[in-house]
Amino acid sequence: MIGGGIAGYCAALAARRNRADLTVVARAPGATALYAGGMEIIDDIDAVLGSPNHPLARLGLDAVGLAAELDSAISTLQLALGKEGVHLVGSWRSRGLYADIHGLARPANVVPDSVAAGELGNLSGKRVAVIGVPEVGDYDAAATAQALKELHGIEAFAEDISIADLPQAAALTDLYGRRAPSPRARGAAIAYPPGFTNLPADGFELLASPPSPHGWRLQQAIALGAVTAEITSFETSRGKITGARAGNRTFRADAFVLATGRHIGGGLQAGRATTEPLLALGVFHEGRPASSLGTRLHHLEYLDPAEEMRLGLMTDRRLHPMNDDGSVPYSNLYAAGAMLGGYDYGGPCGFGVPILTGWLAGQYASKQ
Ligand SMILES: Cc1cc2nc3c(=O)[nH]c(=O)nc-3n(C[C@H](O)[C@H](O)[C@H](O)COP(=O)(O)OP(=O)(O)OC[C@H]3O[C@@H](n4cnc5c(N)ncnc54)[C@H](O)[C@@H]3O)c2cc1C
Repeated sequence: MIGGGIAGYCAALAARRNRADLTVVARAPGATALYAGGMEIIDDIDAVLGSPNHPLARLGLDAVGLAAELDSAISTLQLALGKEGVHLVGSWRSRGLYADIHGLARPANVVPDSVAAGELGNLSGKRVAVIGVPEVGDYDAAATAQALKELHGIEAFAEDISIADLPQAAALTDLYGRRAPSPRARGAAIAYPPGFTNLPADGFELLASPPSPHGWRLQQAIALGAVTAEITSFETSRGKITGARAGNRTFRADAFVLATGRHIGGGLQAGRATTEPLLALGVFHEGRPASSLGTRLHHLEYLDPAEEMRLGLMTDRRLHPMNDDGSVPYSNLYAAGAMLGGYDYGGPCGFGVPILTGWLAGQYASKQ
């Protein structure tokens, strides 16, 4: 498994379940370590299946099959992360709205239990104390409380609690791992900036903007057991990959999963034309090789920067990545996660695509 994000982790979970002997190789934390704290899995299965280039539609599963795989991937993930102290609640079938540190709402299907009580519907009719820390410069609880009131009609107010031993010009990241301070306000739900531990029973964490304590906790939990190394090239023979090289080490295997992420992870390289740097695999935009689109793609990106985010690898039904011409170069290579194109990376499948394609790639690879 090449990649230490959520896709590589789900691939490893599935492969381990099939008793595969596996190694996860990861260079560094990627986009998973930055996620805001609410996992978007899927919103409308029928709409996804109706989009021919969507990575989940390309799996060739019908709505029932997709639902069954999502159920087993997510419950296995919840079980595995729970053992590492990250307790996720919710399912792809449920959807809630959660406020971030600026009071803006973001939808999510699966969230850490420390976030769950902050679902905006749950807060209606309650008083909410938003905890501020005056020593922290990059967060303003009064502004968050005001946004909660104005945007979501929640009866929110700020309560500042000083933490004396913070460094000068402290940032939100300096709160990470500290015990949550207790507010004076009684009888209110308590919204904390993310990062504190030991929240009181009526406390919850707001979602983060990067750098994200939620992402960091998740990344630490999934990184256990991974080998830190950068794969720089592959050995191949007769349409198969036989080894992945990192410095003077070669990892040999019967099957390989590439889950190297998008631009932040390092799986795609931006430039005049976006490329896949390790194996020069095809990069597609809405089913067409990006290299064939010339200036048209640049014009689209100029009109809407999100177009760049829909670029990525294209796979067959078994998650084998393709060349530009649609052929499958390696029969034992599988691709998963945010490196796949055809969906809105920042949208309703932000975690759904990495989780499900990782989960299936791990199954297919371990049956190789
Ligand atoms: C700022 C931000 C906030 C987000 N917030 C949310 C959110 O709140 N909800 C949501 O649903 N989605 C969110 N997303 C999207 C979501 O985080 C990503 O889709 C998901 O984490 C991607 O997972 P991944 O495993 O595919 O890639 P990554 O997590 O990027 O992992 C890629 C891994 O591959 C490794 N790698 C790359 N090249 C090599 C190499 N040559 N050798 C070895 N290892 C290599 C990297 O080091 C990294 O470990 C957010 C994304 C960003 C950027």
